[in-house]
Amino acid sequence: MRGVAAIGWLMAALSVPAAAAEPSLSLLPQAYPGAVATIADNTIVFADGFRLDAGSSNPAASFQDILQHASVRDMFRLSYPLGAPLLPPPVDFDPGRFRNKAFFDHLYGDCRKGEVERNLVAVPWLPLSAGRSVYVNQRGGAAAHLREVSAELERLPLAIRRAAYPIAGTYACRSVADSGQPSMHAYGAAIDLNLAYSDYWLWQAGRNGAIQYRNRMPREIIDAFERHGFIWGGRWYHYDTMHFEYRPELLAR
Ligand SMILES: [Zn+2]
Repeated sequence: MRGVAAIGWLMAALSVPAAAAEPSLSLLPQAYPGAVATIADNTIVFADGFRLDAGSSNPAASFQDILQHASVRDMFRLSYPLGAPLLPPPVDFDPGRFRNKAFFDHLYGDCRKGEVERNLVAVPWLPLSAGRSVYVNQRGGAAAHLREVSAELERLPLAIRRAAYPIAGTYACRSVADSGQPSMHAYGAAIDLNLAYSDYWLWQAGRNGAIQYRNRMPREIIDAFERHGFIWGGRWYHYDTMHFEYRPELLAR
């Protein structure tokens, strides 16, 4: 008996993960294997040798300031609430909307220079349900992981799966309305699902300009995306519930 109990204890001890790291700069190489080689002090070293200063994160900076001029360090300012209950987010809590342009320009290309198109590949999106392909960036693992999301969604009941197609878009060389910075769509690393199930903060501004939170995106779809490195726009105060973008550095644990 004692031997069996000891083995049980040992197995339990071995299954406890080593102290889980908070998402931070140090997780970039594992989030983007093959693209980000290492972190040296405050410098991100890409696999092709390109070096990028991670900058600093000024605690006194305003929300708008960070949105428009985020350093790589700023990208980790707000911890993405992976797997949390679907509740209205606190004011200006937009985890993932602080994006460093230089980092993503180097990872995926600059669409205004025609660099992103070269990296786009076709991913069959719910081929058993919708039968069409979407175009997504193959660098950094975005396209491969979207393929995995598609396979998972295909197994969901139709009533739930219906919110995932027809899609409203993937690649589009455009900026975000309230920041002027490139959207993740400009990198081919985001997807907007079925518009008919979508809610967006700019459509729902209530009296006194207060944002009224609303969501109709099923939890099963959100969970599937989050399992494969995509964050969801419905976890933002400035919410966009059809929007998912590939940000594995915010989900790595
Ligand atoms: Zn979107």
